[in-house]
Amino acid sequence: EWVNFVVFYDRIIDRFEMSKQQNVTFKRMLPNHAIFVEVDEDKMTQVLYNIISNALKYSPEGGQITFAIKEKGDNIIVSVTDEGVGIPKESLGKIFDRFYRVDKARTRKLGGTGLGLAIAKEIIKVHGGKIWAKSREGKGTTIAFSLPYESTEEDEWS
Ligand code: ATP
Ligand code: MG
Repeated sequence: EWVNFVVFYDRIIDRFEMSKQQNVTFKRMLPNHAIFVEVDEDKMTQVLYNIISNALKYSPEGGQITFAIKEKGDNIIVSVTDEGVGIPKESLGKIFDRFYRVDKARTRKLGGTGLGLAIAKEIIKVHGGKIWAKSREGKGTTIAFSLPYESTEEDEWS
């Protein structure tokens, strides 16, 4: 389906904001115009659910989570940035692997199977996009993905 990704993302963030149990601040940096992207809404909901759940799970009390959408060429870049524990450099490439979890002792008490990001990667791939992570230990993590879209600025009929 064609969805206005700005509204779609905003609604998913709303749901997390209403149900969150922690003292974490949400900050939205979303364009104020529509961006239409062709996506499977259920699958994309799953992607965002997995990424945002992690951001909350690994956020400290009083932390902030920033949600952004940027337009870059023929892609939109959707990102979730937290101020949590971060991910060591040597693990950054592995977190999208199935069942991979950083530091078993640290993550055991938080629960999880290590599948969330592997599923997200698979779904983003099917949509023609890429997913990646940037992180600094002790500072926080950004998980971002791209999705191809056609800018509506151009007149396709001319
Ligand atoms: P599941 O999502 O299946 O419940 P999980 O959260 O452990 O389990 P993934 O979502 O695939 O699995 O994440 C893999 C690992 O990457 C996590 O175990 C964690 O070590 C690390 N990780 C993911 N997101 C973050 C984040 N925002 N901050 C710090 N570490 C993270
Ligand atoms: Mg997870």
